[in-house]
Amino acid sequence: MRESYSSGNFTGMKTAFLGLGAIGRPMASCLAAAKLPLTVWNRTAFRAAEFAEKTGARHAATPADAARGAEVVITCLPTSSDVYELLDGPEGILAGIERGAAFVDCTSGDPATSRRIAERLAAQGVSFIDAPVSGGVAGAEKCALTIMVGGDAAVLDRVRPVLEAFGKKIVHCGEIGAGDAVKAVNNAFLATHILAAAEGLAALVKMGVSPNVALDVINASSGRSNTSMNLFPERVLTRAFPRTFRLALLEKDVGIAAEVARETRVPAPILQLTADLFRIARGELGEVADHVEIVKMVEQWAGAEIA
Ligand code: NDP
Repeated sequence: MRESYSSGNFTGMKTAFLGLGAIGRPMASCLAAAKLPLTVWNRTAFRAAEFAEKTGARHAATPADAARGAEVVITCLPTSSDVYELLDGPEGILAGIERGAAFVDCTSGDPATSRRIAERLAAQGVSFIDAPVSGGVAGAEKCALTIMVGGDAAVLDRVRPVLEAFGKKIVHCGEIGAGDAVKAVNNAFLATHILAAAEGLAALVKMGVSPNVALDVINASSGRSNTSMNLFPERVLTRAFPRTFRLALLEKDVGIAAEVARETRVPAPILQLTADLFRIARGELGEVADHVEIVKMVEQWAGAEIA
């Protein structure tokens, strides 16, 4: 029987975190700040070494080494396939993870691959939940993410004290893959809002309306969204376009949402069109562009800058 305890935000559960990217790193920082016994692994090792030196976490040389002895193994990689590929081989997670551990995948993943990962883990006596997050890098830095979970509710209950280190709102959504599906649909909303706002505001600019004036009205009206209230004022009108969430990842998310619609036989022309436009933008703007930079593509097509 594993021994761990929780009180408030503190838990003694031995935790491994794999994937110190834009959002993974601040999430892992929250775990370190909550004084969890923490081991980290990252594909590019120096990032994990730096993190370990700064926080006192243990730096594991391989995924197997990270998983060994951990009660909770958390991954946060670009795609579910990246997570799946980390399972096998002498240095893979399955070579180290112990029976009875819980595997929490915080990747914004796809339901089908999550189910395959869950099956592989179950064969080794390890439980799995998909637990993608929302709230962005800013939310992660405040340890206040929303976490949407698919899988056995009892497993969520067991790991909840760990997730509370970086999550403020933790919601059980359904079976394995349900967290992924909710996350993908949320991000499909985000993607469609960005495109619709860019097209609409570009047209208004060409009519001679200031985008500041237009957003002032829209943000007091029924068309407002996080995109119109925050992203456009802070990132587009200022031309700042900070790189916090890669366009390539949002393209992946909208593709997952369109796939969920196909699987459930819901006609979804808006989701499919949005997925297609994001795929074109990914080709034009590249792998490191931020998601909001798709506005530049719309501006180019329109021949007008939203500023
Ligand atoms: P990044 O691209 O910034 O980081 C990706 C991380 O995964 C890095 O640690 C990278 O390692 C590692 N990685 C990439 N490919 C592989 C691989 N094949 N094998 C092992 N490790 C790999 O992504 P984010 O941190 O932004 O996103 C991670 C997940 O979180 C994604 O699913 C994304 O959709 C989701 N998300 C991101 C948000 C954001 O605001 N950024 C918000 C909400 C969800 P290395 O250092 O070697 O490159």
